[in-house]
Amino acid sequence: MAGDNHNKPENITVLGSTGSIGVSTLDVCARHLNRYQVFALTANNSVEALFEQVMQFNPRFAVLCDEQAASRLRMLLAEQAVVTEVLSGEQGLSAVAAHDDVDTVMAAIVGAAGLMPTMAAVESGKKVLLANKESLVMAGDLFIKAVKQSGAHLLPIDSEHNAIYQCMPGSYQQISHQAGQGGHSLADFGISKILLTGSGGPFRETPLEQLSAMTPDQACAHPNWSMGRKISVDSATMMNKGLEFIEACWLFDAKPDDIDIVVHPQSIIHSMVQYVDGSVLAQLGNPDMRTPIAHAMAWPERIESGVASLDVIAAAHLDFETPDYQRFPCLRLAQESVQTGKTAMVALNAANEVAVDAFLNQKIRFTDIPVIIEAVLNRAELVEPSTLTIVQLADQQARALALDVMSSL
Ligand code: NAD
Ligand code: MG
Repeated sequence: MAGDNHNKPENITVLGSTGSIGVSTLDVCARHLNRYQVFALTANNSVEALFEQVMQFNPRFAVLCDEQAASRLRMLLAEQAVVTEVLSGEQGLSAVAAHDDVDTVMAAIVGAAGLMPTMAAVESGKKVLLANKESLVMAGDLFIKAVKQSGAHLLPIDSEHNAIYQCMPGSYQQISHQAGQGGHSLADFGISKILLTGSGGPFRETPLEQLSAMTPDQACAHPNWSMGRKISVDSATMMNKGLEFIEACWLFDAKPDDIDIVVHPQSIIHSMVQYVDGSVLAQLGNPDMRTPIAHAMAWPERIESGVASLDVIAAAHLDFETPDYQRFPCLRLAQESVQTGKTAMVALNAANEVAVDAFLNQKIRFTDIPVIIEAVLNRAELVEPSTLTIVQLADQQARALALDVMSSL
């Protein structure tokens, strides 16, 4: 197959391998075993799932966050005489992200827990396939500076950002891999707007007065995408689009005014780039994350991903709307946090994680999520996020505030 005649396979660490993105990544790896060698697999505490993956991919390392879970995995692997070394904790995650023998890191841990291991991959100059948007939301400035300093090769996995990237001129793609955009602005490439699309999630047409009664399972029943539960709830509140707006600002060195959010319920177009000559380039495809994953893994080549080609005749209808800010207050909160700057985006992300977790555990209503986030943003003490320690402290403070706000709901 074209592009598969590589002499030495690329060593890949998959952070969050048992999750939705992790499993899709391994599915693509399994299709190209002569090209990708799985070096390390990691999970929070899913021992059985990680055990099965280790048996299939035989990595050098496996990491579980929890030490007890790690001991259980060690036992299971010893019974099978498998020599994979099992590490634990955040240190273990960072070690397999930064290991000298690793070429590529798929950053697919969900939430703020992904920050330090993703940064470890960035700081050690890896090819970083970024799914963990929360790390860029929390520490965008430090993250991008570290990319430039280490020469890491950053490729977006989020389907929208991957689509935008694919719609960028070739010259942009080359430069962005070396040192940001080499001091160039989007306008220097003839780009007038980034059109960030989003489906509007499962509640796009739900009567507003019914929103407060929506259950976790209803919120997680996304019309087009199958994803982990946290990002599914984020899609239902459209906080996901808010986080992606911030992600796009950092990834493409864009100003908030350079990006328009467009609701596109079918999720066939994954985002667009508008040029000064009137051209609008779009990337289309079936909603399956293996497409952006395979694109980023093989860039600048193309490999099979297992995703069927889009049937454009069957797709037929593509609708577009402006977002409804009354229905989706999280979108406004995310966009405002960019304007506020400092650690507002850290507080936004932390409060959202606490609120979404409480919603998934049926402790609060769906409509409480934006109320909690807004209260935290109003109370959080904002500082310049100049070090990772400051970012982590702001994250912890915002989580404590969110719990406090929740207790008085
Ligand atoms: P998921 O919940 O399905 O999987 C998360 C993975 O992270 C699992 O392997 C889990 O074991 C691990 N994990 C969870 N908490 C952890 C912790 N505290 N420490 C270490 N590991 C931990 O999530 P997902 O849907 O695969 O999403 C992963 C990331 O990719 C998120 O940042 C999400 O926003 C982003 N993303 C996902 C999709 C998608 O289609 N699922 C699309 C775009 C972006
Ligand atoms: Mg996305």
